[in-house]
Amino acid sequence: MKFSLPKLAYAKDSLEPYIDATTMDIHYEKHHAGYVAKLNAALENIDTQGKSIEDILGSLDSLPEEVRPAVRNNGGGHANHSLFWSILAGEKSDSEKNISGKSIEGAINTAFGSFEAFKKSFTDAALTRFGSGWAWLVVKDGSLVVTSTPNQDSPLMKHACCCSNSDESSTSIPILGLDVWEHAYYLNYQNRRPDYVDAFFNVISWDVVDQLYKNAQ
Ligand code: MN
Repeated sequence: MKFSLPKLAYAKDSLEPYIDATTMDIHYEKHHAGYVAKLNAALENIDTQGKSIEDILGSLDSLPEEVRPAVRNNGGGHANHSLFWSILAGEKSDSEKNISGKSIEGAINTAFGSFEAFKKSFTDAALTRFGSGWAWLVVKDGSLVVTSTPNQDSPLMKHACCCSNSDESSTSIPILGLDVWEHAYYLNYQNRRPDYVDAFFNVISWDVVDQLYKNAQ
């Protein structure tokens, strides 16, 4: 097996009431595990030379054409969900809860003017993503940008339609992502995607996002 489910750093019920345990269980054990299994099946006869999933998504064009759609969908699914789980925190420490004084706070203020303006931009991206997809905060050319992608597309993919990655030298590195597929919220929120997006802001670990921001610089 080339890829495997990452371990969660918290209990599945620890994100309640914002994300319920049943949704977490199905989302992680069924949806994400399914992407991993299908990704491994698609790459079964491909020499990936120990590349990370991020490397593979950044060079999809180098894969044989017949496996590209499966790797795009399931490799994207694996990378997107791995990032998503990592930026969530259940019983949060004061440091995790607090963006104040972190590098990411300064970068958000520079890019958007204020945290509230960033939150509005991110929420708009999440609510206007029609159908299934993701809202993102990415680092692009050293700056923070809010965007969204359809399906399981990753901002790491060249030519991702969201991010104008047609320029090969300019990549978008996701540091915060929100899954807005209905499987991510429908049990608890039904059609109320705005309530789910708002709840998400209560379970973000700013320690992790800050570290991802620094790594992307
Ligand atoms: Mn999902």
